Amino acid sequence: MDKVIVITGGGRGIGAATAVLAAQQGYRICINYQADEQAALAVLEQVRALGAQAIAVRADVSIEDEVISLFNRVDAELGRVTALVNNAGTVGHKSRLDEMSEFRILKVLKTNVLAPMLCAKQAVLRMSPRHGGQGGSIVNVSSAAARLGSPNEYIDYASSKGALDTFTLGLSKEVAGEGIRVNAVRPGYIFTDFHALSGDADRVSKLESAIPMGRGGRPDEVAEAIIWLLSDKASYSTGSIIDLAGGR
Ligand code: NAP
Repeated sequence: MDKVIVITGGGRGIGAATAVLAAQQGYRICINYQADEQAALAVLEQVRALGAQAIAVRADVSIEDEVISLFNRVDAELGRVTALVNNAGTVGHKSRLDEMSEFRILKVLKTNVLAPMLCAKQAVLRMSPRHGGQGGSIVNVSSAAARLGSPNEYIDYASSKGALDTFTLGLSKEVAGEGIRVNAVRPGYIFTDFHALSGDADRVSKLESAIPMGRGGRPDEVAEAIIWLLSDKASYSTGSIIDLAGGR
């Protein structure tokens, strides 16, 4: 079966590292991005240089119409999706709950919970034999925050990732009999631009002493687990969550 992967937020950080590994594994690749076209085009060039057939598609994955258009483009230009990485995510500035606006909380929940559900829905519509599909694999990018709670920083974000873990478990059981595996990864502190969103771009370096392994993680260390979970090598894994947090 041809391997066709959709990576949400594939233009930067963990998503970009996943795209590069996917190219090395022979996937046709859709790199989704929301705003940073330049970054997405740079990753597109990188994966094409590795020999992958690939496209970059702008879509806000928290809006269903845009998600539907994204998957329709993948159908037309790459073929039926066989792998989905729900990687796009966001976080607000470091705050206590009593300082958070409704707008901020809704944005976090829409991006980190609603969007993976909307994308998984489109993937299941193409992967399930109920809809003419031949199975597939989904990986959700959660966070160690789901089990730590992130007090005084962003409990809205931690809660959104807790919901994503529960979604992973529920969907994995719902579609296990249809040849679709659904798993998640829970990264800890990883060196990406993500931390600038919380107001401290150097957050990982500053917190390294609190990590049992004594260092932050690299995006490719998370991508390796994502690609393994997607692959046939993980053929008996579903509803699994792999922690990649240096012992945190
Ligand atoms: P990043 O470098 O900031 O990348 C985030 C990506 O998400 C960007 O490509 C961004 O698109 C995309 N995105 C955000 N909202 C979107 C939307 N509505 N529609 C489409 N794309 C959207 O962050 P990262 O660290 O690689 O984060 C990737 C995932 O890992 C997130 O789910 C995050 O919660 C999770 N995570 C990260 C860490 C960490 O320490 N870095 C730890 C645990 C979990 P643009 O490029 O267009 O802006």
